[in-house]
Amino acid sequence: MREVDHFINGSYAISAVNAARIVRENPATGEPLRAIARGGAADVARAAEAATRAFAVWGKTPASERSRVMLAIAAGIDARLDELAHLECEDTGKPLALARSLDIPRAAANFRFFATAILHEASESFATERPARAINYVLRKPLGVVGCISPWNLPLYLFTWKIAPALAAGNCVIAKPSELTPTTAALLGEIARDAGLPAGVLNIVQGLGGEAGQAIVDCPAVRAVSFTGGTVTGRKLAARCGERLIPASLELGGKNAAIVCEDADLALAVPEIVRSAFLNQGEICLCSSRILVHRARMKEFTERFVATTRAMNVGDPMSAETDLGSLISKAHREKVMAAIERGVADGGVIACGGEIPRNLPARVAGGAFLQPTVLLGVPQSSACVQEEAFGPVVTVHGFDRHRDAVEMANATRYGLAASVWTRDLGRAHRIAARMDAGTVWVNCWMLRDLRVPFGGVKDSGIGREGGHEALRFFSDVSNVCISTGEAL
Ligand code: NAD
Repeated sequence: MREVDHFINGSYAISAVNAARIVRENPATGEPLRAIARGGAADVARAAEAATRAFAVWGKTPASERSRVMLAIAAGIDARLDELAHLECEDTGKPLALARSLDIPRAAANFRFFATAILHEASESFATERPARAINYVLRKPLGVVGCISPWNLPLYLFTWKIAPALAAGNCVIAKPSELTPTTAALLGEIARDAGLPAGVLNIVQGLGGEAGQAIVDCPAVRAVSFTGGTVTGRKLAARCGERLIPASLELGGKNAAIVCEDADLALAVPEIVRSAFLNQGEICLCSSRILVHRARMKEFTERFVATTRAMNVGDPMSAETDLGSLISKAHREKVMAAIERGVADGGVIACGGEIPRNLPARVAGGAFLQPTVLLGVPQSSACVQEEAFGPVVTVHGFDRHRDAVEMANATRYGLAASVWTRDLGRAHRIAARMDAGTVWVNCWMLRDLRVPFGGVKDSGIGREGGHEALRFFSDVSNVCISTGEAL
């Protein structure tokens, strides 16, 4: 069992609060995997002290130098791709091939993107004429010490999606990964140090949300918090940040619709919607979980969708043949299975899946696996349709008019993402413009350009990440007004 410690002021550190560690099991095998430092307020205070000291230098370091160090961090992630992918696969139960192709490359891309974005930043200026001539311009400055808190589903991918813009904008960071997936985050500390990031600029505190996470939000040195996680946690965190009058960026849950229009190209839509439903075991905030299909295509779509889903391999995450690995834990699997049971109790029918797979290889027989599940006929009012399950479960519903599909898609409290499948781009635009969703993909899914604003509406969050939005969140803005001394 590997010990996972904090990374504070440039080196690994054990917890000053708790001698006892959190024991985390490998979700795919059920065996003990990590003994994690259980951080608390004293650890965060040490991190804050180091970060505050480091900010005196990093906050004044030229963008070109910050960029150079961040590009070296990206190269350090690339160089350890195999090791990081392996650790991510062990921590999460996701297929190794997915960690290699998606999670770890994206973590490096996050650093590369923000390292180069800051070289092209410009700020607005205004030539003022009345009541007197002046030049107004906007000055952006780093905030100081900021907090970054991330979830377990795309561990290093989402951790770096916050840390990279925070560092690029000149801040020092106290970051906490999920207690379920601490390992790649811990390694990022040494990768950053080896790349030349000065001690104290990036501090990583491990531990539970209610302890280490809460301590970050409460820490007086922390000037802003960027959070990705569940809506219930986000609401609590927003309340505390509100009390402290510090900004919070919140990327929360989703219950995303895929709308299959009457003229959809099913040869494209079926495999892509299957991918959007079950990639990473359905444990991606952007996964489609409600599939709305025009009734004229319902029979054909459902047959093809169910057949493609049935053909997916659930099994050992280390195997190249595996499409779906283990869920994050048995407790989470119970929650997902309860959503399926709710859907059935409310009148739904299981078209495929719904069970724990049998005949798994012996190595993973004790894991938290679940078959990809498709439910038909679940009423819109069911909690199975309304609440995020965050697992490999989708419900399929028919609609008669495209405007009904938009109404159904918007009829949950969430508003993170949606996809629309049609050959008619005018229709795609009309639907997209009426969707309560931060992102609408047309004839594609999770096609990400790091420059676009990313986030949710309604209970899916407040604020936007990505591109300039993230750099702005991590900056203070001052307006400087210089009188030119000229008469009108
Ligand atoms: P979670 O809310 O339980 O935990 C997220 C993080 O917050 C963890 O690091 C946790 O330790 C920490 N935390 C928990 N309580 C805290 C507190 N009181 N104060 C400070 N920190 C605290 O979420 P999770 O189960 O890890 O992740 C799954 C959720 O994340 C799903 O709802 C999913 O939709 C959401 N998610 C959203 C996005 C997005 O971009 N919108 C991306 C990925 C995941």
